[in-house]
Amino acid sequence: MSYAYRLPVVILLLVVGLGLFAKTLYGRFRVLKAGRPETRWDLVENRVRGLLEVGFGQAKMFKEPASGLLHALTFWGFVVLGARTTQLFVQGFVPDWPLPVIEAIYAPIKDVTAAVVLVSILGFFYRRLVVKPKRIAYSGEALLILGFIGGLMVTEFLFEGLHFGGMMASGKPDEIAHATAHVANAPIGSALAAFFATSGLSPTLMQALGEVNYWIHLVIVLTFMNLLPLSKHFHVITSLPNVFLSKLEPKGALSFVPDIEKSLEEEKPLGLSKTEDLSWKQILDLYTCTECGRCEVNCPAWTTGKPLNPKMIILDIRDHVYADQARILAGGKVPTAALAISGEVTAEEAEGAMPALIAAVNPDAIWSCTTCRSCSEQCPVMIEHVDKIIDIRRHLVMTRNEFPKEVGTTLKNIESKSNPWGMASGKRFDWAKDQNIPTLAETENPEYLFYVGCAGSFDDRAKEITLATAKILKAAGIRFAVMGKKEKCCGDPARRMGNEYLFQTMAQDNIDTWKEAGVTKIVSNCPHCYNTIKNEYKQLGANFEMVHHSELIPQLIADGRLNLSAGEAQRVVFHDSCYMGRHNDVYEQPRDALKAIKGIELVEIERSEKLGMCCGAGGARMFMEEKIGSRVNNVRVEQLLEAKPEVIASSCPFCMTMLSDGVGAADKKDSIKTKDIAELIADRLILPAPAEDAAP
Ligand code: SF4
Ligand code: SF4
Repeated sequence: MSYAYRLPVVILLLVVGLGLFAKTLYGRFRVLKAGRPETRWDLVENRVRGLLEVGFGQAKMFKEPASGLLHALTFWGFVVLGARTTQLFVQGFVPDWPLPVIEAIYAPIKDVTAAVVLVSILGFFYRRLVVKPKRIAYSGEALLILGFIGGLMVTEFLFEGLHFGGMMASGKPDEIAHATAHVANAPIGSALAAFFATSGLSPTLMQALGEVNYWIHLVIVLTFMNLLPLSKHFHVITSLPNVFLSKLEPKGALSFVPDIEKSLEEEKPLGLSKTEDLSWKQILDLYTCTECGRCEVNCPAWTTGKPLNPKMIILDIRDHVYADQARILAGGKVPTAALAISGEVTAEEAEGAMPALIAAVNPDAIWSCTTCRSCSEQCPVMIEHVDKIIDIRRHLVMTRNEFPKEVGTTLKNIESKSNPWGMASGKRFDWAKDQNIPTLAETENPEYLFYVGCAGSFDDRAKEITLATAKILKAAGIRFAVMGKKEKCCGDPARRMGNEYLFQTMAQDNIDTWKEAGVTKIVSNCPHCYNTIKNEYKQLGANFEMVHHSELIPQLIADGRLNLSAGEAQRVVFHDSCYMGRHNDVYEQPRDALKAIKGIELVEIERSEKLGMCCGAGGARMFMEEKIGSRVNNVRVEQLLEAKPEVIASSCPFCMTMLSDGVGAADKKDSIKTKDIAELIADRLILPAPAEDAAP
């Protein structure tokens, strides 16, 4: 059979298929280019490591072993079969073209890989049509794509079997030798060729059917390629770049807004309200979402009935961006303004209208986020959700002045009283009454500034944690000092509520004061203060050495600076705070501190460490009403109660409030204690006997 006809057909297919693909991709790329600049090309070594681990190694997929394995096998199969696809297109120009050098080794690998991919696709069909996991919405598009991939494997086998089987059955020695040599190293190809050669079909029919399968294969490849940028399967193209370009700076640091004062003075819109406000990397995130739903499974807001679903945040913004593409490609005006110009709405309506991007998202969802980072932790393609949510809060707060009432009150309190509760600054040091706590003004060159924070200064329960921490610092002989009445909020709630200006003002004030006082090392028992000072003050040029009490205490124990007595036997479960755990990877240290206490039996629940559920107070939710769905803290306490603990331990004053309330709601106040690790340690400290007075 002559294959000369292939040449014009394959050229036509390539020109049309690749041309359309390039056009679609160029449109997506132009939108990406319209995004804000962002630097993601630094620390190449770390990026390559992440790419190998999370991208090629599929590390995050294996959090769910069964579906992870299916996906990983399909992904690795695609990588291996890339060479085969290229080979088949080249065979349109040169029939039966072998891969140079590697053909003999590649043929068996390709055969086995295609078989493995086919089995994986059958597994995916089974999951989607029979198992139907809750997090995966039914999607005809997904089934079509699975059908395409399965079709590629089937046509690959049929083409090889029929094409070479036909030659083998031709009775012509040169064709038989040619076919035998070609499939010699391909176990499935040779078995199928032998099968068809003895099937009784005519050689011409077999070769014609082989050609049909060849062309179906090429058409599927090009159709599949063209569907990618138009569907959720765009991730096939974008996920490796997205993983390579993922966030490497501290996970707990929100993005910095430069020149904020000037922007406010000039009344420039701030935050995220339209496509061009997204950074190019944020747009790449949107393109990369696989719609797998892993991010929603552990979201404390979504799982307690709030309107926030992190997957839908990404998809709603993505759909808005896709719908907005024509405007961007046309050189882009803001849609509402354009409508006003065309007379469709009045200028006033255009001015006051909710920007389309935010209207697509639902502001209630935006205010439900606790910034716990569980979504990003689970996302297999490293999508960052929190930055987009906070960017929308920034727009609502700083540009539109639209926010829940409690947000306004809290921000006003921080602004006027330097604390979110609006307590008088003069009362900030009341916790230390009669405790002989050294202040910065009275202490020369203290080793640590003990930054107490607003909760530790004003909240009655948190004050007990502050005193326990001070007792430990004293017992370990650490020269520390506090700011006393001069202390101010670190700025975390203001930043997470979207008031970046207020955050920067508070942070700069603190930085100036501490630098002037010669502070270099800071200890805090609040994860929110810790994260903000450690990871976010750097954006303002400060670099204090920051330690959380859950890190310092086990170190002091290991150094022999704290002596502990054995206390009563207690069964303790530890609740990880999101800002020490997922935001700062501090998981082991608080557990080490608890394990150092004789008599304590530390027990774990399934939802701990990276899987730990937020208490509900993060993202400044501590200061907002929770009116929708079940209360996050109650759900979290129910999970902790599964361990049948006598004590629920934590290392955060906000968590303490939420967990104590949750224990109360579960009617367990009499049987279960809520304790900070500092309190558990302080209760068992063996203190040196006070020096005897010389005079009686
Ligand atoms: S940060 Fe937490 S609360 Fe916010 S969307 Fe992600 S998982 Fe949900
Ligand atoms: S954001 Fe990530 S985890 Fe969530 S649906 Fe998209 S790909 Fe899956």
